[in-house]
Amino acid sequence: MAVPKKKTSVSRKGLRRAGQHHKEYRKHPMTCPSCGDLTMPNTVCSSCGTYRGKKIFEVKVKETEQEEADA
Ligand SMILES: [Zn+2]
Repeated sequence: MAVPKKKTSVSRKGLRRAGQHHKEYRKHPMTCPSCGDLTMPNTVCSSCGTYRGKKIFEVKVKETEQEEADA
Protein backbone atom coordinates (compact mmCIF):
# COMPACT_ATOMS: atom_id res chain seq x y z
CA MET A 1 0.00 0.00 0.00
CA ALA A 2 1.32 3.41 -0.95
CA VAL A 3 1.87 5.60 2.08
CA PRO A 4 2.34 9.40 1.93
CA LYS A 5 5.81 10.43 3.07
CA LYS A 6 4.72 13.62 4.79
CA LYS A 7 1.61 14.63 6.69
CA THR A 8 -0.66 16.97 4.72
CA SER A 9 -0.73 20.23 6.67
CA VAL A 10 -3.99 22.01 7.47
CA SER A 11 -2.85 24.92 5.28
CA ARG A 12 -2.09 22.70 2.28
CA LYS A 13 -5.36 20.82 2.64
CA GLY A 14 -7.25 24.13 2.79
CA LEU A 15 -5.50 25.45 -0.29
CA ARG A 16 -6.32 22.29 -2.22
CA ARG A 17 -9.99 22.39 -1.27
CA ALA A 18 -10.29 26.09 -2.05
CA GLY A 19 -8.74 25.41 -5.45
CA GLN A 20 -11.30 22.70 -6.19
CA HIS A 21 -14.12 25.02 -5.24
CA HIS A 22 -12.87 27.81 -7.46
CA LYS A 23 -12.27 25.42 -10.32
CA GLU A 24 -15.87 24.21 -10.14
CA TYR A 25 -17.15 27.75 -10.09
CA ARG A 26 -15.02 28.75 -13.07
CA LYS A 27 -15.78 25.64 -15.09
CA HIS A 28 -19.54 26.08 -15.06
CA PRO A 29 -20.34 29.79 -14.90
CA MET A 30 -24.09 30.11 -14.64
CA THR A 31 -26.30 33.15 -14.41
CA CYS A 32 -29.61 32.99 -12.60
CA PRO A 33 -32.48 33.16 -15.12
CA SER A 34 -34.67 35.23 -12.77
CA CYS A 35 -32.21 37.76 -11.33
CA GLY A 36 -29.12 37.40 -13.51
CA ASP A 37 -26.68 36.91 -10.64
CA LEU A 38 -23.79 34.48 -10.91
CA THR A 39 -24.72 31.18 -9.25
CA MET A 40 -23.36 27.68 -8.81
CA PRO A 41 -25.00 25.10 -11.08
CA ASN A 42 -27.64 22.80 -9.53
CA THR A 43 -28.05 25.07 -6.52
CA VAL A 44 -30.74 27.46 -5.38
CA CYS A 45 -29.86 31.06 -6.23
CA SER A 46 -28.75 32.76 -3.01
CA SER A 47 -29.76 36.25 -4.12
CA CYS A 48 -33.37 35.58 -5.16
CA GLY A 49 -34.09 32.08 -3.76
CA THR A 50 -35.27 30.41 -6.95
CA TYR A 51 -34.28 27.14 -8.58
CA ARG A 52 -35.40 26.17 -12.11
CA GLY A 53 -38.04 28.87 -12.09
CA LYS A 54 -39.52 27.78 -8.75
CA LYS A 55 -39.44 29.88 -5.61
CA ILE A 56 -37.66 27.85 -2.93
CA PHE A 57 -37.36 30.43 -0.15
CA GLU A 58 -38.08 34.07 0.49
CA VAL A 59 -35.00 36.26 0.63
CA LYS A 60 -35.07 38.25 3.84
CA VAL A 61 -34.51 41.97 3.35
CA LYS A 62 -32.77 43.84 6.14
CA GLU A 63 -35.06 46.05 8.25
CA THR A 64 -33.02 49.16 7.54
CA GLU A 65 -33.35 48.59 3.80
CA GLN A 66 -37.12 48.06 4.11
CA GLU A 67 -37.51 51.33 6.01
CA GLU A 68 -35.64 53.14 3.27
CA ALA A 69 -37.95 51.58 0.66
CA ASP A 70 -41.09 52.68 2.54
CA ALA A 71 -39.94 56.28 2.98
ZN1 LIG B 1 -31.45 34.63 -8.73
